Amino acid sequence: MFVIDTSAILSRRISIADDNYIFTPGVISEIKKGKLKIILDSVPLNIKMPGIDSINAVIKAANETGDLHVLSNVDIEVIAMAYEIHGIIISDDYAIQNVARHMHIKYEGADLKTIDKKLKWRYRCTGCRRVYNDYIETCPVCGHKTKRFTYK
Ligand SMILES: [Zn+2]
Repeated sequence: MFVIDTSAILSRRISIADDNYIFTPGVISEIKKGKLKIILDSVPLNIKMPGIDSINAVIKAANETGDLHVLSNVDIEVIAMAYEIHGIIISDDYAIQNVARHMHIKYEGADLKTIDKKLKWRYRCTGCRRVYNDYIETCPVCGHKTKRFTYK
C-alpha cells in the first residue's frame, strides 16, 4: 500500500484513483481547498487516520532528526499512516523523506527524485555565524535569526 502526501497529488504525476493508495483525512482536506477538489469528489478513495501511538512515534523520530518544527500535522499523519500499515510514502517533501528513512519506512518521490543520504540539520546564526545543533529561532549571543543547513 502507498500513502500519498499532498505534494504528490498536486504534482499530478500519480493517478489518485488507485486501490493501492491510502490517504489521510488531513491530506484530503488540504486538497479540497484547491482546484483538484472536483477529482476527489468523483472517485472513491481509501481514507484512514493513523492511531495516536503511530503519531507519537513519528513525533519522537522527527524530534531526533531535527525535522519536527518543519513538519505540519498533515505531514506527521502521512508518516504515521505509512508506519502503521508498513506502507510506502509517496512524497517529494525532504523532511518527510528524512523522518521516514530514520524510521525505516520506505518512500518514493512523486517525481522519482529522492534524497540518497540521510540529512541532519544544523542551525547557523545569520549574524555571528555561530552553529547550533538543536533548533533555535534566534541566536542567544547576538539575537539574529538562525537558518538551517544540512551536513552529512
Ligand atoms: Zn549570533
